[in-house]
Amino acid sequence: MLTDTYGRTATDLRVSLTDRCNLRCTYCMPEEGLDWLPKPDLLSDDEICRLIQIAVTRLGIRDVRFTGGEPLLRRGLVGIIERTAKLTPRPQIALTTNGIGLARLAGPLKAAGLDRVNVSLDTLRPDVFAELTRRDRHQDVLNGLAAAHQAGLRPVKINSVLMPGLNDDEAPDLLAWAIEHGYELRFIEQMPLDAQHGWQRSTMIDAERILASLRTRFALTPEPAAHRGTAPAERFVVDEGPHRVGVIGSVTRPFCRACDRTRLTADGQVRTCLFATGETDLRAALRSVGQDGSDEAIAHRWQQATRAKLPSPRIADVDYEQPKRPMSAIGG
Ligand code: SAM
Ligand code: SF4
Repeated sequence: MLTDTYGRTATDLRVSLTDRCNLRCTYCMPEEGLDWLPKPDLLSDDEICRLIQIAVTRLGIRDVRFTGGEPLLRRGLVGIIERTAKLTPRPQIALTTNGIGLARLAGPLKAAGLDRVNVSLDTLRPDVFAELTRRDRHQDVLNGLAAAHQAGLRPVKINSVLMPGLNDDEAPDLLAWAIEHGYELRFIEQMPLDAQHGWQRSTMIDAERILASLRTRFALTPEPAAHRGTAPAERFVVDEGPHRVGVIGSVTRPFCRACDRTRLTADGQVRTCLFATGETDLRAALRSVGQDGSDEAIAHRWQQATRAKLPSPRIADVDYEQPKRPMSAIGG
């Protein structure tokens, strides 16, 4: 098992399949000038599948989520999901995507074994989308969402980040729209993980403001804490139900005590936390010959990395140090 010294066990693996992306969301990536990970450092499909197999069969991982960068840009994605779905015990398989290309891929991904999908959509207004993501692809995302639903992926969740002066007035509209279309909406507080270090606590739209904005149109009843388990989202019943909305207060309401995650970057580094400043190299082990490259040795390195996991990143502290690796290269 992947257990740390604070009694937490990681059972949820996030695998970043690429640091590249076809959008440039202002809270994530700069418009240009971000260096990509060097090609030789990127794990091959076989290397990724081997690490997932070690995680699932030896280390107690039960959920695998593919992310990035934009995971739909990875050519081998369908094959990687197919191979993940053949593992015993069969993990739950999820994908976090910006939705561009999902219109074409939702069916094949579902057939390969994908169970669930989270699509990022911050606005219902195409002009605001273009400003937020620096690309005019709003309709592609809407088409991707519809295709995911049509393909039978359940639940289809939407991740939204509210940005001051751009879409911070849209929370109720997004919720009404998500309910109408059968999608489950979650708002995520903007985190200090952007490559360009543009995050400011003073302008961030925090959980309290998100909830206040939603309450101008909806009655929200908190779900009992027991229902939350290890999920980062606080969930609220909307009006009389059955719909729910989630708020992930990563900055103002951190959920580190219940964290059950471990992360693998596209270049084969284990990160125990989104905000960790250190990483453990599994790529070197994977590519070494002899005992160091055995499944057992790799599993052991992963366990050691987990034991060193810190209790909480203290984002609110004045001396908070942002990780060198930006969100797009960590895998959100
Ligand atoms: N490209 C895919 C996407 O956008 O869904 C997957 C990777 S993206 C890094 C994963 C999630 O992180 C998205 O929902 C995105 O909105 C969110 N995200 C990115 N940067 C963020 C930030 N600085 N604060 C909060 N959420 C962020
Ligand atoms: Fe790309 Fe996702 Fe980052 Fe937007 S949030 S730039 S879609 S990786």
